[in-house]
Amino acid sequence: MQVIESVAAFRQAYDAAAKPLGLVPTMGFLHEGHMALVHRAREENATAAVSIFVNPTQFGPSEDFATYPRDMDSDLAKLEEAGVDLVLAPTVDEVYPAGFDTHVDVGRIGERLEGEHRAGHFHGVATVVCKLLTIVRPNRAYFGQKDAQQCLVVQRLNEDLNLGAEIVVCPTVRDSDGLALSSRNVYLSADERVAALSLNRSLRLAQELHSQGESDAPHIRQRMHELITTSPLADIDYISIADANNLNELDTIDRPALVSLAVRIGKTRLIDNVII
Ligand code: AMP
Repeated sequence: MQVIESVAAFRQAYDAAAKPLGLVPTMGFLHEGHMALVHRAREENATAAVSIFVNPTQFGPSEDFATYPRDMDSDLAKLEEAGVDLVLAPTVDEVYPAGFDTHVDVGRIGERLEGEHRAGHFHGVATVVCKLLTIVRPNRAYFGQKDAQQCLVVQRLNEDLNLGAEIVVCPTVRDSDGLALSSRNVYLSADERVAALSLNRSLRLAQELHSQGESDAPHIRQRMHELITTSPLADIDYISIADANNLNELDTIDRPALVSLAVRIGKTRLIDNVII
């Protein structure tokens, strides 16, 4: 496994690499959710590449960029074990050198949900993913359904800017109790970890109500709200039931809908979603 820090060195490795090449972009602190993407990239491509970069431009000024969990040694051991060929682990200066001044704005799809609650977040995501896809030039790039809106943003970006990758969306990996795996779960105390289960429970409630014939989205949102607010540790950012293709909020569930939510458990902001 080659661990590469510079764009120039990655270009050389790219020229020598067998194709097709699959890329898994990550911010590191790898867990089984990330590794599911890595295993899939390994299976489907002659070369498996992973990027590890905690991207400062997708964090707001009051967010956790400085304290975001990092463990490069453990990450590299997991990737080596999974049979990854190339790891791109650039410094912030390598990705954003002095004078850097170009930003990608994906428009409407990035303005809702996470975009509304985390100003500038998707400008940061779109800019760094655009750079990664341009540097790495993967045939396939793997993203998790856990970050459903990010997948839509990346698909839009890839299509609009002709970046040429096949975007592969992989299912959300959960702990046995239903909590979606996230690098940020390490922030949770034991009590908060229990409170965090309300995210998944509320999504399951939405699925259940819908499967019983309920199509009134405000009613389902209300029931989810009631379930989550039984925990005093939970503070809801948003609960959304939206058209899964364009993220327009729905009154009636009459097409594939993305049920998604962001909830603060103590100081930790968690997101989760399901499609119904
Ligand atoms: P991150 O390091 O949080 O930026 O995540 C890197 C990639 O892994 C993104 O495409 C995420 O959507 C994906 N990912 C993170 N957590 C999970 C999970 N629990 N299940 C599936 N994919 C995930």
